[in-house]
Amino acid sequence: MKDYSYISHLECPKCGERYEENEIQQLCKCGSPLLVRYHLEKVKATVSREDISKRSNSLWRYHELLPIHNKENVITLGEGMTPLEKLPSLGAEYGLNNLYIKDEGVIPTGSFKTRGASVGVSKAKELGVKQLAMPTNGNAGAAWALYAAKAKIKATIVMPVDAPQITRKEVYVAGGDLYLINGLISDAGKVVGKLVQSHGVYDSSTLKEPYRIEGKKTMGYEIVEQFGWKVPDVILYPTGGGVGIIGIYKALLELQELGWIEKGKLPRLVAVQAEGCTPIVEAWKKGEKESNFFENSTTCAFGINVPKALGDFLVLEGIYATQGCALAISEEELLQAQKQVASLEGNFICPEGAATFAAVRILREQDWIQEDEHVVCLNTGLGLKYPETVEIEGVQTLQPGQDIFVNN
Ligand SMILES: *Cc1c(COP(=O)(O)O)cnc(C)c1O
Ligand SMILES: [Zn+2]
Repeated sequence: MKDYSYISHLECPKCGERYEENEIQQLCKCGSPLLVRYHLEKVKATVSREDISKRSNSLWRYHELLPIHNKENVITLGEGMTPLEKLPSLGAEYGLNNLYIKDEGVIPTGSFKTRGASVGVSKAKELGVKQLAMPTNGNAGAAWALYAAKAKIKATIVMPVDAPQITRKEVYVAGGDLYLINGLISDAGKVVGKLVQSHGVYDSSTLKEPYRIEGKKTMGYEIVEQFGWKVPDVILYPTGGGVGIIGIYKALLELQELGWIEKGKLPRLVAVQAEGCTPIVEAWKKGEKESNFFENSTTCAFGINVPKALGDFLVLEGIYATQGCALAISEEELLQAQKQVASLEGNFICPEGAATFAAVRILREQDWIQEDEHVVCLNTGLGLKYPETVEIEGVQTLQPGQDIFVNN
């Protein structure tokens, strides 16, 4: 049977060590996450951009560049090829002629975590995994529990009690093994770490298995394909664990290597964080290569409440290499942006995604973004998953028969 994947091996971005991909691998011996490498020459020789563009609307249209050998191991709920839409009214408001949303709200499970779950769970299945465990701020656990259910893999999910309520229900309804922790994702991570050590469970924590990035990188492929195989000038990403931004950067480099986009200028990658949790922003400001643990972090944008990311050095590398930047947004600014996007454009986005719009406004004001540049904001999830972030004011309750007073 024809191989579905042109995967080659795993490689450590820190020490260069190589690993086989056909057996379970977690972190490198040196503690770094591993990256997946492909036979890109072979892809280039046998597949064209046109071939890909004719395939079904799913992230699996890029299957040669994904790690699953046997198509039968693919666990899919129809994820990927989310809309890339121009936002003219909001653009006018910000002084931008080409502002776009890449909307991950309209994907199974309601957040882009689905991409990592689809590819990560599929590869786990291919490797014969029977049980996995992970700490999560909610969305990843929900997505992995649902995909694991479909793959018949047992999923143990540990999330903070404060994580969005709906995400624990998603885990529960999927039949996942759910635990709540009175603490942060970093505390959940310690609990999972012990379980992995003592019971040999597959560790699906962010970046502790190499395949979640592969799912998330498809956002980068899609943005480029949706622009007619051209790159935008700026991509803004709400950054927590950083997998999405690392993935997008990896995708761009692969596309260059394949000759599917021009060598040279890449989009400037912008890591957006909430003021209550800014490890990457702090590190970037000082020009450092790694971040420090951010104490007592807090934000309503739960997906980006990650005080110390394992892949921080990869996030920072992507920002430096593309002349990007990192900035922090206050709770007030991001909630205001959320309201603005919905009321001007009709997209009810998540607070994490809203932070990227608040960031665009600020960067435009500072002239860091120019009027005619093509700018893409990643909305990483559906606003419907966070009903508590919207506070309703001034709504009148009517009695039956009571008239609405129209004020002209
Ligand atoms: C997890 C999450 C993020 C952060 O993603 P990373 O790729 O880990 O940086 C952003 N937004 C939402 C909605 C999330 O669930
Ligand atoms: Zn290493």
